[in-house]
Amino acid sequence: MSPASNPYAPTATTHALPSYLQADKLGPWGIYLQQVDRVTPYLGHLARWVETLKHPKRSLIVDVPIHMDDGTIAHFEGYRVQHNASRGPGKGGVRFHQDVTLSEVMALAGWMSIKNAAVNVPYGGAKGGIRVDPKKLSIGELERITRRYTSEIGIIIGPTKDIPAPDVNTDEQIMAWMMDTYSMNIGETATGVVTGKPIHLGGSLGRREATGRGVYTVGVEAARHIGLQIEGARIAVQGFGNVGGIAGKLFAEAGARVVAVQDHGGTIYREAGLDVPALLFHVKQTGSVAGFPQAEALAHDAFWGVDGDILIPAALEQQITEANAGKITARMVIEGANGPTTPEADDILRDRNVLVVPDVIANAGGVTVSYFEWVQDFSSFFWSEDEINARLVRIMKEAFGAVWQVAQDNQVTLRTATFIIGCKRILHAREMRGLYP
Ligand code: GLU
Repeated sequence: MSPASNPYAPTATTHALPSYLQADKLGPWGIYLQQVDRVTPYLGHLARWVETLKHPKRSLIVDVPIHMDDGTIAHFEGYRVQHNASRGPGKGGVRFHQDVTLSEVMALAGWMSIKNAAVNVPYGGAKGGIRVDPKKLSIGELERITRRYTSEIGIIIGPTKDIPAPDVNTDEQIMAWMMDTYSMNIGETATGVVTGKPIHLGGSLGRREATGRGVYTVGVEAARHIGLQIEGARIAVQGFGNVGGIAGKLFAEAGARVVAVQDHGGTIYREAGLDVPALLFHVKQTGSVAGFPQAEALAHDAFWGVDGDILIPAALEQQITEANAGKITARMVIEGANGPTTPEADDILRDRNVLVVPDVIANAGGVTVSYFEWVQDFSSFFWSEDEINARLVRIMKEAFGAVWQVAQDNQVTLRTATFIIGCKRILHAREMRGLYP
């Protein structure tokens, strides 16, 4: 029997493609695996444990049936992946999107492990999602899908097991329903089971803005290192929601010009800089930047060629690719989204001397304040917004400083440097805990 057809052949050479994904495209998980491969030569003796990072600890696929308003019953597919728990419970958001796949959730969970370790919060990494376009659901359907999904993944989540949070298309209201459903099922109010909750339900001040604030904080630090002035800098932002919108607002307040914004509805441009508060209001009213009166509309692909100093992808994965990386004029890319740049695009940007501040450090502000929220819930003692922002900024600056240093010492990109720090912390914990049994 040839090794290929032998089901009992050693699996070490299968490159971590679980059997349930054999028929699927590798997608973002393939990108994550390439990133891990790039860091392996820098892991020293810990490289012995690196396969750990290529095998998600636990992946749950659930059926989510709900009553639709028209009387029919619809079934949706949901996922929760716990990528790693060496340093603590699983932690990571839940996204509702029609294109979510298991491979994507696995990658997002892997990036959470690296991110949580890079900012040194005591968590492993996890992520969840439902394959649904929530914009097509009524409020009642949205509540029912959230509650049924929470019940289905309830067997693996919990305040000390795995703590979900908001991500693409999920918000404070959805977290409130998740918290309530979990609490109803266990017979006690467990605020610490999710983060990103409303303030009056154990949420934290500053959590909503935290990811954008973190993007801004590391962006300013990175700009300082390369001698880029924020005042007057031209900025292009993709995605103008909770991450891109807040980061854009903070950069504009610091004197930068947000000249171009793209979202799912369209692309807009204003040479003198967009009025960011007015644009945020327009997005709140209409759901998109399209049609904003004080700007001109651009063709979708023109966005990448906009003349700028800083580019902030803050939407979805695989946006900066081989096809458009050569057009980018910015000196710096700050990844507000998870996984927006493919490895091929990373190489092109590096060769063109464009600094990429990777997702796993740039957008870690959200989970950092999630950690603060979780700690506050456990102690039932709540901090002031100033205290939260000050602690957030301190952690982000320190973590970014360490990443910058490792990048200099090893002459590697900031992504590889962040992976070096994150992977070493995870694998060190893994090694000390040892293999059970
Ligand atoms: N969804 C956010 C992220 O990708 C936050 C996760 C969390 O707070 O647990 O980092």
